[in-house]
Amino acid sequence: MLLQIEDLHARIETKEILRGVNLRIQLGEIHALMGPNGSGKSTLANVLMGHPSYTVTSGRILFDGKDILETDPEDRAALGMFLAFQYPVEVPGVTVGKFLKRSTEILRAEKGSFNVTRFIEEVRSLMDTMGMDRSFINRYLNEGFSGGEKKRMEILQMLLFRPKLAILDETDSGLDIDALRIVAQGVNRLRGDRFSSLIITHYQRILEYLKPDKVHIMMDGRIVLSGGAELVGELETRGYDWIREEVQV
Ligand code: ADP
Ligand code: MG
Repeated sequence: MLLQIEDLHARIETKEILRGVNLRIQLGEIHALMGPNGSGKSTLANVLMGHPSYTVTSGRILFDGKDILETDPEDRAALGMFLAFQYPVEVPGVTVGKFLKRSTEILRAEKGSFNVTRFIEEVRSLMDTMGMDRSFINRYLNEGFSGGEKKRMEILQMLLFRPKLAILDETDSGLDIDALRIVAQGVNRLRGDRFSSLIITHYQRILEYLKPDKVHIMMDGRIVLSGGAELVGELETRGYDWIREEVQV
């Protein structure tokens, strides 16, 4: 099991947001996480990466069988965890090129495969695939990027870092259909028996491209329903209320 979340409770300041999350993801699987606004999806993503604003009050997170609750965010990334943020931050003063080189160097350190010339070629070719102009390499990270450009930047990072688990927090929100297809192609490119993904989304559309193995619905800080891809269509037509009634949350 790549990711195992057991009865996870977490709070921000004094407010309990995650109230007993259970989730298991096998290596090679694509899971979708859906649910109404404010149900705790981004909180779960942040807690998984070890964001310091959240306090885990009970439960466990195992990654590759190892308890990571005491592990720093950087070390979680080094273990192969990646989060594409819902709202990527602007980093003035740090160019895209420098940022990508530095982080890829660190994240691939153990694999001993880092070669600057090959890296630059790889970035250029990925930028072409992502439909990003190569001049982005010299711009400051995310500064003045449009919403869609920020999202493509997140996927470019994912493709370079080659994580074992990529968590995509609403990477598809606000994207036009072409950008959406590019983001989905990025995930599909990594798809295989050494890659897993947890895709947080509101929309059926990206899931049509990604065909998730499992779909989970989060409400009020818990996963209240899990199923196959057929759940997505049901949500699209019936909304979330019927689930609320059935599971009585
Ligand atoms: P989702 O991603 O499913 O829309 P979030 O995880 O962003 O939900 O939010 C879950 C709940 O946590 C919401 O009620 C939200 O208002 C609350 N919350 C998130 N961040 C903070 C914060 N920094 N301080 C207080 N409450 C927060
Ligand atoms: Mg969110």
